Amino acid sequence: MSKYTPVIGMEVHCEMKTRSKMFCACKNDMGLEKAPNVNICPVCTGQPGALPTPNREAIRFVQKVGLALGCRVNKRSKFDRKNYFYPDLPKGYQISQYDEPLVEEGEMDVDGEKIRITRVHMEEDTGRSQHPKGTDYSLVDLNRSGVPLMELVTEPDVTSGEQAKKFCQKLQRILRYLEVSDADMEKGQMRCEANISLYKEGEDKLSGTKVEVKNLNSFKVVEKAVVYEIKRQTEALESGEKIVQETRGWDEGRQETVSQRSKESAHDYRYFPEPDIPPMEFDEEYIEGIRRELPEMPDAKKERFQREYGLSGDHAEQLTLDKHMAVYFERSASEIYEKKKSGEFTGEEKKAVQLAANYILAELRKYLVEDGVDIRDLKITPENFGELMTIVADGKINSSAAQAVLEEMYHSGGDPSHIIEEKDLAQMDDSGVLKDAVDKVLADNEKSVEDYKNGKENAIKYLMGQVMAATKGKANPQTVMEILKERLL
Ligand SMILES: [Zn+2]
Repeated sequence: MSKYTPVIGMEVHCEMKTRSKMFCACKNDMGLEKAPNVNICPVCTGQPGALPTPNREAIRFVQKVGLALGCRVNKRSKFDRKNYFYPDLPKGYQISQYDEPLVEEGEMDVDGEKIRITRVHMEEDTGRSQHPKGTDYSLVDLNRSGVPLMELVTEPDVTSGEQAKKFCQKLQRILRYLEVSDADMEKGQMRCEANISLYKEGEDKLSGTKVEVKNLNSFKVVEKAVVYEIKRQTEALESGEKIVQETRGWDEGRQETVSQRSKESAHDYRYFPEPDIPPMEFDEEYIEGIRRELPEMPDAKKERFQREYGLSGDHAEQLTLDKHMAVYFERSASEIYEKKKSGEFTGEEKKAVQLAANYILAELRKYLVEDGVDIRDLKITPENFGELMTIVADGKINSSAAQAVLEEMYHSGGDPSHIIEEKDLAQMDDSGVLKDAVDKVLADNEKSVEDYKNGKENAIKYLMGQVMAATKGKANPQTVMEILKERLL
């Protein structure tokens, strides 16, 4: 085992899904705009004399995230100017928050380990520079300039690449549950960074030199970059090299982190209070109002699904990864309970609900992934889906027929009982009819009957197959087996 231990802090930026930008009335289109520089005005392009007006919705969103993570929402908060010049930031400074952020001190549970949240604050996003190939000029698009950006910083509690990835995944789920952001990493709506240092056994945990790794644009890359960086730093330290404090980026082609620039300290930003926006005050009543708006969060939902529906931990986890999938499952479950109440369903509710979980996670999810469809756009309503589950659980159709019905429902959105009738898929359970079918098969297969009576147990399977074929797969296999055994006594 290495004598060096990694210490990792995460920094996540996330664009908030508000209607307008952070300090002006421009539309916040989340990158949906078709042309450059269409959602711009004097404020977000930094014209002299333009005055910023903070977006209440964006502030509320960040406070909501804070409460969902068990943080303290500060009663007083203010904006500050963070000075740096880039062409995509025409003002020459970014409005951010320095020493009085909106939210502080919370935690997130990642597989039983606590990752402490240091702070969550509000700032504005920058524009985007482009460098067209083969030209000697740059272009700047300010559509994104001034989009509300949340920044979340953790304590250095993360210890591995896998944990870093899981932290980011869980944060994305929370942001989506709260409906404050789509947090799509591919679209740059959520951007993760990791600050990584190593300390030697016996020394102070924070004694190592911190390296910041940026441009981690997928969960997989978060994990790979952290794993790579731990290895790089360990090898450097073990061979007596010094770690340089710097910013590194992930190079997908080379599968390694590469140096980008040496890191400015906070001092270089020359933070000072934003003179155009007065400090903000939030009272208890306001904060409690936000707390009351919080929906059931993923962990609580998972726990409830296990308790209420008797689902396994894994199924409950899978079903709650996506809030809309969880809603779909619950609506199908309530249809199952309805059918039971009305007497249309005679089986056990728990079994049918379990079946619904299986079918959603295996069959439905396969369709959704293959066709890139969101569960909200599914043609099969949860009510029709729940009804199909009661039909399967009651043994009215067998599992291969169920697959066929589900496929038809997926394409047409029809209701299961009509499809079963139309396609004549109902399971044959009429023992009179089945007895006739069995007798005919026995008469036609004297050799197999003989074999069975002479102790060849397998012969009964062959006979069973013949009955199923004769009934076009619709016979209830259990009933057929019972009749066969009775006849062959
Ligand atoms: Zn604007």
